[in-house]
Amino acid sequence: MSYHPDDPEFTDANPDLVLFTLICPECGVANPDGSLNCLVCDKDLTQTVLFLEDDSFDLELTKDALIEYRKNFWGTERTGKVLVYPLSDISNIEYGSPITRFKFDYKNERQVIPLRKENMEILKEILPQIIDPN
Ligand SMILES: [Zn+2]
Repeated sequence: MSYHPDDPEFTDANPDLVLFTLICPECGVANPDGSLNCLVCDKDLTQTVLFLEDDSFDLELTKDALIEYRKNFWGTERTGKVLVYPLSDISNIEYGSPITRFKFDYKNERQVIPLRKENMEILKEILPQIIDPN
């Protein structure tokens, strides 16, 4: 299952949300609607369920993993550091509120990721539909 702004059902329910506009999560280039692979880096775009731009990282969700592309202090450029959390290794997910911190256990460590409120709301809606509840 993937979410796309062209999906009429989704657009009606959330007219202001744009989840994945075919901006390549890997290199940031905008691709034409319906592209299967990124024009620039050839990443398989069909695997991306969700792509969120946040202040200090970009976050990609695929069916198998949560991927964090770290950005510099000003949020203007990526540092090249990429953290991949396979969904099968994530547990004890918590969506912090009112301070929006996305928390989960990964390899016996508590991970705390600060998210913009709007990104948190999207993640909270989409992630449970992807992740194995066990
Ligand atoms: Zn790309």
